[in-house]
Amino acid sequence: MEYQVGDIVRTKKQHPCGSKLWELTRVGVDFKLKCLGCGHIVTLERQKALKAITKVEKENNNNDKAIKK
Ligand SMILES: [Zn+2]
Repeated sequence: MEYQVGDIVRTKKQHPCGSKLWELTRVGVDFKLKCLGCGHIVTLERQKALKAITKVEKENNNNDKAIKK
């Protein structure tokens, strides 16, 4: 599965604030995820991020460069 900036994703573990939903703010060697519950931003290595993410809740369809799954 490919991800792009702006996607809303769900993770296995919930953030201490109680939210499991995150917005991707950077996708590359590292992923940056912004917690939708509290706005906290975490940076994860790509491999860790791919393991942590269980599902894309909402794809960012406004991006013309969207990569097809
Ligand atoms: Zn949070």
